[in-house]
Amino acid sequence: MIVVHSPHHILHNPPKEFISNHVEAYGESPERAELILEALMDIPDAELARAEQFDLGHFYKIHGVSYLEYLQTAYEEWVAAGLWPEGIMPEFFAIGRMRDRPPSRSPEGKAGYYMTDSCTMIVKGTWEAVMFSGFTALTGAMYLLNGQSSAFSICRPPGHHAGFDYAGGYCFVNNSALAAKFLQDQGRIEADGKVKVGILDIDFHHGNGTQDIVQRLDNILLVSIHGDPDFSYPYLTGFESENTMKNINFPLPPGINDEEYFIVFRDAVASLRKFGARYLVLSLGVDTFEHDQLGNFRLTSAIYSRLAKYLIRELDIPKLIIMEGGYNIDFLAGNVVSFLTPFLNCKKG
Ligand SMILES: [Zn+2]
Repeated sequence: MIVVHSPHHILHNPPKEFISNHVEAYGESPERAELILEALMDIPDAELARAEQFDLGHFYKIHGVSYLEYLQTAYEEWVAAGLWPEGIMPEFFAIGRMRDRPPSRSPEGKAGYYMTDSCTMIVKGTWEAVMFSGFTALTGAMYLLNGQSSAFSICRPPGHHAGFDYAGGYCFVNNSALAAKFLQDQGRIEADGKVKVGILDIDFHHGNGTQDIVQRLDNILLVSIHGDPDFSYPYLTGFESENTMKNINFPLPPGINDEEYFIVFRDAVASLRKFGARYLVLSLGVDTFEHDQLGNFRLTSAIYSRLAKYLIRELDIPKLIIMEGGYNIDFLAGNVVSFLTPFLNCKKG
């Protein structure tokens, strides 16, 4: 199995975040990707590949022009205005009607316009890391187009909270949507003239950004299993009432165990099969683990292999696995390896 990685992620290393009413060290740390890569280096069936570079035009197919320009210039503009050089964190957030018009010219106004929370920070190297995280996703997709049955992209920063024109939840560019659109644009066209792509998001948190983006695309179905927003970040999205022809939400209450989760997972896979996806992009978060500090499920490490085995058996299409969340660094790499093991053992992978 191909495992795509990039050393550039290390350039995004914010010092802190404001979460749950206090300041703490940034939870989405460079250590996360390093530990996953290290664990996979020891596995002979994991074939490591560096991310290649792509035309940024692919990014503009899923994100707004002014938003991407903001990401590329925000830090320099912020520092030039004499603001806090450690990084950008908004102090005022745009709500409701404030987003119906462009942001003001102030760096503070733009930050509040393009960022949705206080646990996401833009630092000096953020854009370069974000760009290569996107390239890591696109490189994985390229391997599928070249005939691999599966690939794993160690994307960092993650992406599923990044919407059409906003950052949040540690995310800036939506890697899963980027790869899905790329597979659709470059993939083999079926007899009906379509290339259907499914996105299955199993991160603990609702992928509000992916949901936002897929509403603007055709023939891409997002299916998401996540913590009920009545109890969990992002609190305002992820309800069943938001389901459209383009996304299906499976919000689950706190305390879900392996068996309960597996039943819902089967339903989620069935809906993707019914949709007739030609490719699958899987947003993998292991913050569903019982000891993850940002989740409230009770999944054990063993469930991840079981989910992957079921997915391989029931959905016989090329699969790209994109790294999203997972924050207990003592268990992160082990849980990722648990999920990948059936793919690594798969002859076709
Ligand atoms: Zn998450």
